[in-house]
Formats: sequence, C-alpha cells, structure tokens
Amino acid sequence: MDCKQTQKKFRYLCGVSRKKLGCTMYDFAVNEDNEHVSGAVIYDKNQILLNSKDNARRRVFTLAHEIGHIVLGHRDGGDRMVDTRSDLILPLKRTKEYEANEFAGKLLMPEWEFRKKWNEKRKLSITDRISCMTETFGVSFSAATVRAEVLGLYHA
Ligand SMILES: [Zn+2]
Repeated sequence: MDCKQTQKKFRYLCGVSRKKLGCTMYDFAVNEDNEHVSGAVIYDKNQILLNSKDNARRRVFTLAHEIGHIVLGHRDGGDRMVDTRSDLILPLKRTKEYEANEFAGKLLMPEWEFRKKWNEKRKLSITDRISCMTETFGVSFSAATVRAEVLGLYHA
C-alpha cells in the first residue's frame, strides 16, 4: 500500500513540524497498553509521537492531525494530547478531534486539487475514483472517502 506520494507527504510534514513548529516526530514502541493509540502531542517536549506499527498512510494522516492540534491551539492546559484510533475515525462535529481531522484533510488533499482530479476521473465508478484519490494524495481509502463527502462530491 505504500507509495511514493505517501513517503513524500510524510517527509514534507516532518519538515513542517520541525521548521515551522519546532516539533520533532518520534515513533513510540507499541505494546498492549498503547496499541489503540495512533499519535500524541507532548507539548512540554515539543514532540509528536506516532504509532510505529500503523501503516504509512495512516501515519501520514495522524501526523497531519497532530499538526492540526498544534496549529489550531487545541492545548487545554494539559501537557499532552493523546489520540486513540477512534479519535481519528469520524469524531463528532464541532469537537477538537473533528477540527483536527478537517485540518488534516485540507492539508493532505487541497480542495481545488481534489476537485480537479475527481472530475478527471468522472467516467470511473465511485470506488475506483476514491482509489485514484488515495494514490494521487497518498492517503487511506477512508480519508479520501471522508474528503469526498465533506466536499459534497459523494454521498454515502
Ligand atoms: Zn486528535
């Protein structure tokens, strides 16, 4: 499932967090106590942690989501923000998790580019169109599906 696009996005996001936010990305070792955790921001250490066992596409989305928490000022007094898998899958609207996902979606799949590619593939079935989006933007199938829904291109 890995593709060049995913690796390119990952490197880009690592650069953004290091150069613009002063945050370094680390993988955390996964054990049975934390395997449900996808990522975290450790504010006092300027670190973003990612699950080392998640696949590359999921890690790219999690990294963009954590950058979202930092950029959107979501820190609420605590020294860390920990995201479980369920925080990254369809959180309730108007929550910090929803906002961070929305940020990640926009960062990884800019609207004009997404619409352009989507229209180019109009002859394909919806499933094939979404598969094309995953390749083009280096994201997971679910991330591309949510982006298409948010942009009103596709109604599940
Ligand atoms: Zn989150």
